[in-house]
Amino acid sequence: MSGTNRYPHVFSPLNLGFTTLKNRILMGSMHTGLEEAPDGFPRMAAYYAERARGGVGMIITGGIPPNEEGGLGSKLSTPEEAAQHRLITEAVHAADPSVKIVMQILHTGPLAGTPACVAPSPVKSRIGRFTPNELDEAGIEKQLADFANCAAMARQAGYDGVEIIGSAGYLLSTFLVQKTNLRTDRWGGPWENRMRFPVEVVRRVREAVGERFIVIFRIAAMDMLEGGLAWDEIVSLGHAVVQAGANIVSTHFCWHEAPVPTIATMVPRAAFAQVTGRLRRELKVPMITSNRINMPQVAEDVLARGDADMVSMARPMLADPDLVNKAREGREDEINTCIGCNQACLDHTFGGRLQVSCLVNPRACNETKLNYLPTPAPKRIAVVGAGPAGLAFATTAAQRGHRVTLFEAGPEIGGQFNLAKRIPGKEEFHETLRYFRTMLAKTGVTLRLNTRADAAGLKAEGFDEVIVATGIEPRRPDIPGIDHPMVVPYIDAILGRKPIGRRVALIGAGGIGFDVAELVTHEGTSAALDIDVFAREWGIDFKNHPRGGVTGVVPQVARADREVFLLQRKADALGKTLGRTTGWTHRLTLQRRGVQMIGGVEYLKIDDAGLHTRVNGEPRLFAVDTVIVCAGQMPLRTLADQLQAAGLKAHLVGGAYEAAELDAKRAIDQACRLAAEV
Ligand code: NAP
Ligand code: SF4
Repeated sequence: MSGTNRYPHVFSPLNLGFTTLKNRILMGSMHTGLEEAPDGFPRMAAYYAERARGGVGMIITGGIPPNEEGGLGSKLSTPEEAAQHRLITEAVHAADPSVKIVMQILHTGPLAGTPACVAPSPVKSRIGRFTPNELDEAGIEKQLADFANCAAMARQAGYDGVEIIGSAGYLLSTFLVQKTNLRTDRWGGPWENRMRFPVEVVRRVREAVGERFIVIFRIAAMDMLEGGLAWDEIVSLGHAVVQAGANIVSTHFCWHEAPVPTIATMVPRAAFAQVTGRLRRELKVPMITSNRINMPQVAEDVLARGDADMVSMARPMLADPDLVNKAREGREDEINTCIGCNQACLDHTFGGRLQVSCLVNPRACNETKLNYLPTPAPKRIAVVGAGPAGLAFATTAAQRGHRVTLFEAGPEIGGQFNLAKRIPGKEEFHETLRYFRTMLAKTGVTLRLNTRADAAGLKAEGFDEVIVATGIEPRRPDIPGIDHPMVVPYIDAILGRKPIGRRVALIGAGGIGFDVAELVTHEGTSAALDIDVFAREWGIDFKNHPRGGVTGVVPQVARADREVFLLQRKADALGKTLGRTTGWTHRLTLQRRGVQMIGGVEYLKIDDAGLHTRVNGEPRLFAVDTVIVCAGQMPLRTLADQLQAAGLKAHLVGGAYEAAELDAKRAIDQACRLAAEV
């Protein structure tokens, strides 16, 4: 069945009166870091044009501030700056004239990393660097004028519209919320005053751009803040911005400082769309929903339920620029699905590492630099190991025209991803494996499962190149008693090969240690698969929508009947190596399950009594019945050594190359770059 039949709602046009969007999927705003890069404009032009060719109805750019105090280091306020933006709009319209491109105006307010940052009141954000300067009446007037000017410049630059972000803890939203707006003048105090600034921004913007221009307002339909917006305030703000000139309202579900995950992989797909649906029944204007909508069927279901008029996909468009075309052509199996990991996108943005990309698609934001061009000289290439690095290399090289044979000693592809997919909250890894399975077949890779390649065999087959992607072996720390029957390697624990007792010590607290702690303390349905369980675990009340949408009581989480100690040798707080935007969710979940996290541990021995240690110099016995070893990995290089001895040239990728702090992001990136060149 063609995608237009399978996804009738997705592929029906949306008529805005003066213009029509060709379908209901838009690329949501993602700040990429290219906005501030010296070579950013040509790179953004290529990045957005590729997404336009990929079939979306509308693209919203990364946020651009209206002035310097808006933060981020870039702005749009002059005709010279507008001329630079023309590169983007012209590239997108040339790629597909039916695609609309809308620029997001983002004033970060108290989150601007500059001492000149501004806000309604001098209230420092928990995640901001500076206490903002309180705007006086003239300062507020300047901000309003700058918003209007920025929108006019966007129009001059050839954009089809602007999106004004009124959520997330940025400037507009700090006027709305009581705890960040302490003013007693006409811009603060009662609700009518607190919403005056955002509504006035919309009014001025509409005035500046005229009628035949898209103006989207992004509203915090659930800000996740205790004492945040009440439902009737959200509805009245929605009415007011529409009255002031917005012709689309887009729902957002966070303040960045709120301690509730809203986009991480542990969030169920489309969990928040129901809130958009409720608001849509109040406002008579097209509405956009978002958050963890990563596949066309999820989008179709949301639209069919009447929860939204359009679905925003931001990260999924990094992962696969062709997502919409693939849906339309019935090629969903080829979609490289965003797994919600944040590792190469938001972790980079919020970690101050400006350049964004994507773990499953390293080409994202590198469209001018990393290209998989057809090879003029096809080679016979052996790839050994079907983990993330081997799969990425094999499919990319085969797509370029090389003849690739992929050897895997085990019975299935996936390597470490087969472990990750078993961790509650990481179910999306199944999608990556489905993608690779499809692409191996589509690109014509010869897959030899249950086949342990050796140097003699590879030499006999006469391959032109050998890629060693044999991965890792778990580190076995040199602790007396490490052979005791109570000791379980993490792979056996995750695969359920060994029984796990009621009192458990985990040696090692990296990503795997946290994953195993999650697995052994987990009880019941994975919250990522059940919106009600997720809501209970994070204190969200979708039904009654108290202020902020959160109940304010410490959430009760179901947990296995186990006492668990998560240990590391470093004296630091545990979990420092986890992702910047997701690590806190893992720490909080384990704390709520009663996991004891202990640093400064010296492992002395393991015997029938348990794990003997010194903790910060003091002897301590963990009287456990299971010790799970999650102490990192060593590269598995036996084959590489054999090949070298046999005089065969080999390239090492992924864990086989470097196991220390290896992650899939580095493995896939390295493999794709090599495949582009080989
Ligand atoms: P890792 O992050 O390198 O952590 C290894 C842990 O073992 C550390 O806590 C380390 O802490 C400990 N350790 C190292 N050598 C040891 C020894 N000789 N004896 C005892 N303990 C030792 O490795 P991993 O946890 O296996 O993770 C592998 C990669 O996968 C990492 O890059 C990780 O980021 C990635 N990953 C990420 C996630 C995620 O949530 N984003 C999830 C899973 C995996 P001490 O040295 O202080 O004891
Ligand atoms: Fe999605 Fe992860 Fe890629 Fe970000 S890095 S776009 S979350 S798959």
